[in-house]
Amino acid sequence: MDYGIDIWGNDNFFIGNKKVKINHKSSPSLVKITNEIREKGVRGPILLRFPHLIEKQIKLIYQNFENAKKEFDYQGGFNAVYPLKVNQYPNFLKNLVKIGQKYNYGLEAGSKAELMLAMTYNNENSPITVNGFKDKEMISLGFIAKEIGHDITLTIEGLSELKNIIKMSKDRFSVLPNIGLRIRLHSSGVGIWAKSGGINSKFGLTSTELIEAIGLLKKSDLIEKFSMIHFHIGSQISEIGPLKKALREAGNIYAQLKKMGAVGLNAINLGGGLAVEYSQHKDEIKRNYTLREYANDVTYLLKDISTRKDVKEPDIFIESGRYIAASHAVLIAPVLELFSQEYTEEKLKLKEKNPPLVQELYELYDTINSTYAQEYLHDSIDHMNSLLTLFDLGYIDLIDRSNTEVLVNLIIKKAIALLKDRDSKELLQIQDMIQERYLINFSIFQSLPDFWGIEQNFPVMPLDRLDEKPTRSASIWDITCDSDGEISYNREQPLFLHDLDVTKEEYFLGFFLVGAYQEVLGMRHNLFTHPSEATVFVDKDGYRIENILEAQSIIDIMEDLDYNTKEVEEILKKKIENSNFIDDKAKKHILEEINYFLNDNGYLKTIN
Ligand SMILES: *Cc1c(COP(=O)(O)O)cnc(C)c1O
Repeated sequence: MDYGIDIWGNDNFFIGNKKVKINHKSSPSLVKITNEIREKGVRGPILLRFPHLIEKQIKLIYQNFENAKKEFDYQGGFNAVYPLKVNQYPNFLKNLVKIGQKYNYGLEAGSKAELMLAMTYNNENSPITVNGFKDKEMISLGFIAKEIGHDITLTIEGLSELKNIIKMSKDRFSVLPNIGLRIRLHSSGVGIWAKSGGINSKFGLTSTELIEAIGLLKKSDLIEKFSMIHFHIGSQISEIGPLKKALREAGNIYAQLKKMGAVGLNAINLGGGLAVEYSQHKDEIKRNYTLREYANDVTYLLKDISTRKDVKEPDIFIESGRYIAASHAVLIAPVLELFSQEYTEEKLKLKEKNPPLVQELYELYDTINSTYAQEYLHDSIDHMNSLLTLFDLGYIDLIDRSNTEVLVNLIIKKAIALLKDRDSKELLQIQDMIQERYLINFSIFQSLPDFWGIEQNFPVMPLDRLDEKPTRSASIWDITCDSDGEISYNREQPLFLHDLDVTKEEYFLGFFLVGAYQEVLGMRHNLFTHPSEATVFVDKDGYRIENILEAQSIIDIMEDLDYNTKEVEEILKKKIENSNFIDDKAKKHILEEINYFLNDNGYLKTIN
């Protein structure tokens, strides 16, 4: 069982010596890294960041476009910027900026806060692009970025923004940011994120508005500052067709605008959208192109249009974020409990004289073997249904019912063990019926919000025991008290995990490709916060764990919600002092306990 690692893993991980290992330099296992962090006292879910995977993605993008430019003898330049909205966490961003320096990899900002981050951390000589709606303040910020030396392009979403820029260019100092125009295409992307493109999209100028914009720019002597057209047809573009269509449309608009006197126009920015393959199952693969194909198509198409329309080949800008960030983070979450684990033989309370069907169940359990496993399994499930009816009718008591539950569970476990080397459809169906619920120490709302919101699946697998065939069909429960906090077993994309005794061994699940969007979209349902995190540098001789940040403490979350934490502490203290149930010594002890809990994070430690 390889959990589809060849489909979603991109050779970033491999299975070696039963464990998931990092396919880079000294190739440490994820379990080893996890245990080392836990030895420092960190409990609960841990997000691991791998800067070498950020580097890999950045390098791939530049390499593929450089190759494509060579192949088609493309005269324009290639530039990329990282869209900050995908992940703004400092231990990701600072590494990205450092790695991106030698490529002049820039940043894209979509809000004032992101623009401030870009102005602070962007490498000198790397471009900044700004998208999204802008008020006057945000436009001033764009001007300031230019005034302090950044190469910045403000992409306007509507004519009123352009008018504000024109006005401000008269009021401020001599240097001006470049201006980009977001164009509204009639082409749009496919899939759940397709809304960013298309004639009804939220963003961009129509042809009529474009013509008006050119007029305004000329009239105010700013036409030379208009350097870029921009579009973005949506995230996670799974098929290349719609992108090619959008490019043809954008290429023709570029050529037209140049002919209309846009002398400074020299770049087309195709936004983001490069897709990540999240599937763990061959028949669920979504992406139908490679990065090489994407780079070749873009370059070829723009070359072709420019030649035919006799205009200079534009510089190509891309803003792919998901493709850069997704793979760098892995969430490691411990299994706390298996819900049917309590069904052991010791739990049986057989009577001197049991109802006949219970007695039969016991015999099935006692004598089951590989020849009859399937048959006995069917019989036991039939018996269980009959016994449950008998209970409803008042013919058997709660002890009989408990014995039924325990025996059926024991029979199923034995049957699965006996049948596990046969990949029968039957077995799959049985497993559907008897899925095991794994309680995992994490919050789906916090760590996989896109699963909750748009049913995006993320690859998941255990970190160890990968030489053993997992026998339990698994559904995953998080620790929020919300019934949506569940990844249920799905017959089309089945997940199997190992049977285990959580009192005797630790078992960790890894959730992969969680580095894009999930962290900032994550919500604090039940006040579970961003998990603890660590950055792992893998080198020839081993690895270095840096920047271990523990999940926020309970008192800090309260402060974030604007509670007066002094007040919280005082009220709790008073309640302890005024309690009539305990003496002074106990009070002192309880106060210490409360302080410890307030200053610790809210994730669970262990259940057993
Ligand atoms: C969100 C966004 C991106 C990034 O999209 P990905 O799918 O993450 O590559 C790029 N450009 C713009 C304008 C965006 O809004």
